[in-house]
Amino acid sequence: MTVYNFNPGPSALPSEVLERAKDSMFNYQNTGLSVLEMSHRSPLYEDVHFQAIADVRSLLAVPENYHILFLQGGASLQFAMLPMNFLSPGKKAGYILSGSWSEKAYQEASRIGAAIVLASDKDNNYRSIPAVDENHFADDLAYIHITSNNTIFGTQWDALPTRKSIPVCVDASSDIFSKPIEWDNVDLLYAGAQKNAGPSGVTIVIIRNEFLQTANKTVPKYLAYDTHVKADSLYNTPPTGSIYLLGLTMKWIKENGGVKGMEAAAKKKAGLLYDAIDASGSFYQGHADKASRSCMNVTFTLQNSELEKQFLQEAKARGFIGVNGHRSVGGCRASIYNAVPLSHVEALRSFMIEFQKAHA
Ligand code: PMP
Repeated sequence: MTVYNFNPGPSALPSEVLERAKDSMFNYQNTGLSVLEMSHRSPLYEDVHFQAIADVRSLLAVPENYHILFLQGGASLQFAMLPMNFLSPGKKAGYILSGSWSEKAYQEASRIGAAIVLASDKDNNYRSIPAVDENHFADDLAYIHITSNNTIFGTQWDALPTRKSIPVCVDASSDIFSKPIEWDNVDLLYAGAQKNAGPSGVTIVIIRNEFLQTANKTVPKYLAYDTHVKADSLYNTPPTGSIYLLGLTMKWIKENGGVKGMEAAAKKKAGLLYDAIDASGSFYQGHADKASRSCMNVTFTLQNSELEKQFLQEAKARGFIGVNGHRSVGGCRASIYNAVPLSHVEALRSFMIEFQKAHA
């Protein structure tokens, strides 16, 4: 049976990446070594490491004055590292709440210093991206934090707000590499790799040098961004296997039209599912308001919980994996990251239409 992987993360990897990885797991470039067995200080690994960084830079058109880091601890550690490095005493950090992950980022910052909520869509059950007016932000903010795609609720910023004088930091865990990034509007961006960039275990952090220079100097060494910048993300043993797979994923993105190619594919795939939802006459109901819909996580409910249970059971039996909503909100969610083939989304769409015919 074909397995259609709609997991929210860790999620589908391109089959070409897994095929290539299979060979290098045993005999990397005829060295007789697995890629997992090499010293992180060896020239062989250094090639993997620096090529992956170079590929991230070229794919996302990251300007030269930004550093690219490969860290550990997931996006969750970034929730803490960001305020530890940049939320100085006497300053406030401004958070825009657009879902559970931005709430977590805000809560973590509150443990470290003065964090404030600039805008929130919580009362609307996070159906839309909150409206923000940068002119109302106080000047003494250390930074503004945004979650570019809300994995659980299925909403996404169409465009990031225009950066004025306050640094903007973005959690792009669930939409990195799915569209170009306007670097003029970003000072720091972070993303766990396990959705669009590779397997879990490595977190990408991209930071503007001028912003880095303003970091607190009292942060424990391992948690200071500067430590990893100075050491080229080789301060201690990096997650070599994850970085190797991330590098293969970067190559796959390049071969498939780059980030622009990913963007076009994402729009097409999302369009197929949203069209099925909109044409269903409320049999399926999208969670997100139309203007805030995510191209990465399509969230929807059915008319009642019994029908929803049946839908999810049948979907599972047909090989559709991970279509249940996050445990905190329920409902259904199809995560259609870069590596999910168009044909798999078409299959899910057909199943949705078929299920509706049988149950309407
Ligand atoms: N931010 C977002 C937007 C996420 O989707 C997730 C994970 N699903 C996280 C943060 C947390 O990531 P991690 O598990 O890498 O800490």
